Amino acid sequence: MSHKILVTQSSMPDLNEYVEEIRDIWDSHWLTNMGIKHQKLQEQLCSYLEVPNIELLTNGHMALELVIQAMNLKGEVITTPYTFASTTHAIVRNGLKPVFCDINPYDFTMDVSKIEELITDKTSAIIPVHVYGNVCNVEEISDIARKYGLKVIYDAAHTFGVKYKNKGIGNYGDASCFSFHATKVFNTIEGGAACFHNEAIGKKIYGLKNFGIRGPEEVDDIGTNAKMNEFCAAMGICNLRHIEDEIKKRKKVVECYLSNLAGVTGLQFNPKQTDVEPNYAYFPIIVDEEILDAVGIKCVMNLKKWIFVKKIFLSFNKCVWMLSGEFDINKTPIALRISKQVLTLPLYADLELQIVEKICEIIRKMKMG
Ligand SMILES: *Cc1c(COP(=O)(O)O)cnc(C)c1O
Repeated sequence: MSHKILVTQSSMPDLNEYVEEIRDIWDSHWLTNMGIKHQKLQEQLCSYLEVPNIELLTNGHMALELVIQAMNLKGEVITTPYTFASTTHAIVRNGLKPVFCDINPYDFTMDVSKIEELITDKTSAIIPVHVYGNVCNVEEISDIARKYGLKVIYDAAHTFGVKYKNKGIGNYGDASCFSFHATKVFNTIEGGAACFHNEAIGKKIYGLKNFGIRGPEEVDDIGTNAKMNEFCAAMGICNLRHIEDEIKKRKKVVECYLSNLAGVTGLQFNPKQTDVEPNYAYFPIIVDEEILDAVGIKCVMNLKKWIFVKKIFLSFNKCVWMLSGEFDINKTPIALRISKQVLTLPLYADLELQIVEKICEIIRKMKMG
């Protein structure tokens, strides 16, 4: 095998399909600023995700930043340390203080039994993450939020297309933020979206993503530039046509891993959650320290030169500002332990099953050696 196997590989439409989709941009010369492609993708996503309102943005991170800004949150926000750097950074860049709630060791989402003890009179919101595509305990979170008058914003970057109790995941909480980054289940090259119930929030985000400009001579907000351009929207329109097939292919890869790793002791897999229609976004394995050395597998695979595994999330205990700040990683021991034991194996729609089998074989041999 000559080509390298990375943890992920971006899904792309057939080149001709993309060329067809962007052809009319050459007639209109309309490249960005909420053009026809932007509008079309927005409508299609609203329908595919089954959400009441959606705003397209340059990326998932800006979705988080602008939703927080649009809701005018203050003080402290309860969030999870077990996530990509973006979640915490969106909170801090809005001048808010992140308060970290530990995760549960089963699906790695926020441990809802530990939220209430973190609530103070400064808390304004909860920002949980549907990590690896696993759905948070949305009912419990919503009950707590209602009891204390808090907003709930989901980082739904990993849950494109996921449904919970037959409802699009973007319907839960006050808002949900999706990422359409090249490495995600659905991509617009770079891109993201915010879904929300309150239309006023939508108007605010629409303004904020375009410098706060309301009309030809009115600027009524301190905005930024977070508009999705027409080429990215066109990529999204193409990729969305194939999304169901993509998710089906991902499912096959996951099933191949599970059958080939069945019976290997000391490995914990992503759970199959009840009432959840999954998207097979990631294939993390949690490796029992006593049986297998996570670093060991990583070294062996990387040494083979063609398979790369990654620690997602490595960032947790490596963020300089976390180490230098007030946050004590020992206060969230489960997140700390999982971040040490996790390895994310290659997973993408076109990953050949033969390679999956090979990866599993390496893991099984490691175990015996
Ligand atoms: C990818 C990701 C983001 C950020 O999305 P971008 O589109 O890359 O800005 C935020 N949160 C999580 C959990 C992610 O995985």
